[in-house]
Amino acid sequence: MKTKLGLLYGGKSAEHQVSMQTALAVIKALDIEKYDIHPIYITEEGDWMNGPKLTGPVQNVKELAFSGESSVSPLALNSAQDEQKFDVIFPLLHGPNGEDGTVQGMLELINLPYVGNGVLASSAGMDKVIMKNLFAQAGLPQVGYNWFIRSEWESNKTAACEKVESELGYPCFVKPANLGSSVGISKAVNRDELMAAFDEAFQFDRKVIVEEGVIAREVEIGVMGNDTPECSVAGEIIAKKDFYDYKAKYEDEDTVMVIPAEVTESEYKMLSEMAVTSFKALDCSGLVRADFFLTKDGKAYINEVNTMPGFTPYSMFPLLWKHTGVEYPELIERLVNLAKERNDEKQ
Ligand code: ATP
Ligand code: MG
Ligand code: MG
Ligand code: MG
Repeated sequence: MKTKLGLLYGGKSAEHQVSMQTALAVIKALDIEKYDIHPIYITEEGDWMNGPKLTGPVQNVKELAFSGESSVSPLALNSAQDEQKFDVIFPLLHGPNGEDGTVQGMLELINLPYVGNGVLASSAGMDKVIMKNLFAQAGLPQVGYNWFIRSEWESNKTAACEKVESELGYPCFVKPANLGSSVGISKAVNRDELMAAFDEAFQFDRKVIVEEGVIAREVEIGVMGNDTPECSVAGEIIAKKDFYDYKAKYEDEDTVMVIPAEVTESEYKMLSEMAVTSFKALDCSGLVRADFFLTKDGKAYINEVNTMPGFTPYSMFPLLWKHTGVEYPELIERLVNLAKERNDEKQ
């Protein structure tokens, strides 16, 4: 019997367009002999459009943005149009309201299996402070960090800056706690820049994390599995600018991905063990992309895990697996199977 697969994409988020591209690529890669594909489009306004089963090829993202149809309540997703419930939902969403446990919680409530991380891992992974606290508890090496909530910052800005200066020093990185794609992140090298960086980051979140800046290579590893996760080869990002900011991610053509990264065997062993430890520290399932800093003298620090990493065929996570021997269609199939497996284990 075919697997009835709901693809959830779009969304009320800065990453709406990226999600559309991902959905198109996933549809093209799926074998229609094995899957009944149902597009579920979330508009930029946040309305859910439950589309009928795809019956032919889709050529461009415009066809996936079916407007003009009446929206459904997300909670109605499992009262299937054609008797059969979804077997699996694949959320192809990034950032708040997609990658942060909210959609995952809704899918738990209506009892539908879904690809990727559960509620706890998704929400812990979205908040960089909580994530780093859990990493610290698991003994993972990381750069020094501090965090502030907006009201604390506003009540005494000088004290906040002094704390950063005495505990972390310059340069430091200031980030909204709950975001991705480098949105709202700045590097500060003095008090004026730190003040400006706080103001910028607080535009996006009521909680801000400040980290010690490191000079290091940026190396990433894909992790896939449930109870016994496996690692991909390592990849390196070389951004030809000060740091890997939003523009370098989506606009610059001179940001280079080197896969596999030039790391020694012992460096790879260290990084892959750290990747698995980080996966377990957050109780992840399905997939994550673990991001590291690797210094010249061979020290590795975990920066973060991304619980729904970029997933177009040209994004780091799928490319890491391609170089590990898992092509895009197989990657999707494996993730769908991991979702089924996790659901079976719950029963
Ligand atoms: P994404 O989820 O898209 O990977 P993000 O918004 O979660 O990104 P980070 O990965 O934490 O943000 O940081 C973005 C970039 O900023 C990093 O790839 C790196 O270039 C730089 N950076 C962040 N923190 C530090 C640090 N402590 N020291 C040096 N560089 C840093
Ligand atoms: Mg991130
Ligand atoms: Mg992200
Ligand atoms: Mg990152």
